[in-house]
Amino acid sequence: MATAKEKTVGWQRVFRYKRKKCEKEEKCEMKKAYRFGYNLYFTDKAFAENLEFVKKNVGIIDEITLFAEYSHHGYWPLEWQKESAKVLKERMEKYREAGVKSVGVNVLSTVGHLDESFDVLAKPPMQTMVGDDGSVSRSCPCINSEEYLDYITRRYALIAESKPSFIWIDDDFRIPRHGVKNPCFCPKCVADFSAEYGEVFDRETLVRAIGRDEKVRRAFDAFRRSIYTALAKEIEKAIHAVDGSIKIGFMTTPEWKEKEWIEQFKATMLRPGGGFYQDDVPDDLIRKGFDVGLQIAMYPETADDIQYEFENFPYQEFAKSQTAIRTECALSLLYGCNGILFNAFIGSYQRLMDTIKGRSRQWDRIADVSQNGKNRGIFGNRAACLAFAKIGVPLAVCADDACALVLCGEDADKMSNGQIIDALAKGVLIDGEAFQKLSARGFSRYCGVEVENVYDNGMSERFTASRFNGQFAGYKRDVYMNFWDMEKKVYTYRVKDGCEVLCDLENINHEKKGAACTVYRNELGGRVCVMGYFFPEFFRCREKQTQLMNVLDYLSGGMPAKCYGDCKTHICCRESEGKTLIGVINCSLDADAELFAEVKGNFETVSRIETDGQVVAIGYERTKTGVKVKIRDLAPFEYALFLCEEK
Ligand SMILES: [Zn+2]
Repeated sequence: MATAKEKTVGWQRVFRYKRKKCEKEEKCEMKKAYRFGYNLYFTDKAFAENLEFVKKNVGIIDEITLFAEYSHHGYWPLEWQKESAKVLKERMEKYREAGVKSVGVNVLSTVGHLDESFDVLAKPPMQTMVGDDGSVSRSCPCINSEEYLDYITRRYALIAESKPSFIWIDDDFRIPRHGVKNPCFCPKCVADFSAEYGEVFDRETLVRAIGRDEKVRRAFDAFRRSIYTALAKEIEKAIHAVDGSIKIGFMTTPEWKEKEWIEQFKATMLRPGGGFYQDDVPDDLIRKGFDVGLQIAMYPETADDIQYEFENFPYQEFAKSQTAIRTECALSLLYGCNGILFNAFIGSYQRLMDTIKGRSRQWDRIADVSQNGKNRGIFGNRAACLAFAKIGVPLAVCADDACALVLCGEDADKMSNGQIIDALAKGVLIDGEAFQKLSARGFSRYCGVEVENVYDNGMSERFTASRFNGQFAGYKRDVYMNFWDMEKKVYTYRVKDGCEVLCDLENINHEKKGAACTVYRNELGGRVCVMGYFFPEFFRCREKQTQLMNVLDYLSGGMPAKCYGDCKTHICCRESEGKTLIGVINCSLDADAELFAEVKGNFETVSRIETDGQVVAIGYERTKTGVKVKIRDLAPFEYALFLCEEK
């Protein structure tokens, strides 16, 4: 926590924060961790260079992780591991002598990520993964054999003997993608599943049964999952049998959902993944930030060390600008990480170290304020959330923290009737296809509309004079583009009493066809917006942005925050007790765009967190529900940070 000393400079009240020392509260500083590949430490010459680089930058190095291997290939002979572990041990001791307290190992290949270097490296001397099409992996062992279990537990024990502070299990600990399609259908996996299920299959008959029978598919998924669960326990035992103090880390992916693996590993370090390797499409960093947040939302509270994986794989300095790096890292903290693992070194990348040094105090402050916080905003359909995220609507990473829900397409198919009623009793935005699904299940009475007509070409929408459209009444927008969406349909609705019409569908000859976007307060007390078209396309314009923000404000009883102005923008809203931390990204190439951020709450002070971590009170405007801040001259893809504090 921080203490503030106030002084007056001109019209601004300036706060200078003095940081408390963090010995006890580990979380109040961001962990700066670095991962070095085998080729950076294995030979004496390479290691000497790397050690010098580490010594030069030791002030901003909290932790070093060494990759155990140098390929994603899945089999590493024990003799090789034994020799390699000796080198690991020696290198880790040297880093510790240089002043880096926490040094450990990342096992890149427990199962193997893909078929790689299979003609060059040792062939797995055991059954390898078999795809549902019968293809056989050349790199990745099937994990369901005694030979593999013996090999992998002995290998982890050898690594544990090198005295690492921690061991990371990489994200190849996953069911899909091990060099073949949808593994594993090897003879033993098929036979074991047959015995468990009580029906005899071979690969072909099992694949057919899975394709036509949901019960078999679910049972086979559970079978595969349980093999990994058992393996996680064996790996934990192998490590802790050598040394119970070694921490275990586990890397997850956006498709990960097996929470029990964390428990079986006894993992206290976690690393959410997502893959953002270059900034050619810079706003993809928002997608990764959100994906990371979604994973963190599923982590147990026992995980106190959550490291974002920063990558420019395959280690290209020019793959990312320093601007994108700064913003990507800050965003990862705003979505709940409290450390960053930098995996970007093929040599001495000093420019990156200088970037980290330049922002490290500011990032510490984000980690400090956002610990125990939650991301507030809309939640639901992932594609729609990501589209909203680029017009200044904040995102939540779980339903509990959502101010409104967005349902598109087939989303409702995955919901029970009870869940749908719950959603309709709150604030929910529904697209045309999702409404069709809800209507077929008898929920249209809560939405205020019934389908009247359906069209598949030649339509636009016209904004009505509704209060939600303000100055943009009469605006016309294409909702249907035959260029990209040949199969999609748009709808007009018959509306109930009390249902407000925000847009009418109109054909391109300007003939009005009927209501196409409505808002309704239902008998459950819920507020529902039904769109006659599909989401989330073509709303990167200020007219639609304004309307949608007004709608979302109504559905949610006031969004926790929003950002709007001259360009594409992302806003992140991290709430903790009495404080709201706001991050705004200029997602355009314009340095002169004017943006406004509004934050809901009864705030006493609004401050800007400067790049050096200083917290400086700024001027703001009061609104009916909170505060409004003007943001000018934010460089392309740079971010600004605001801290709103209650009394
Ligand atoms: Zn198998």
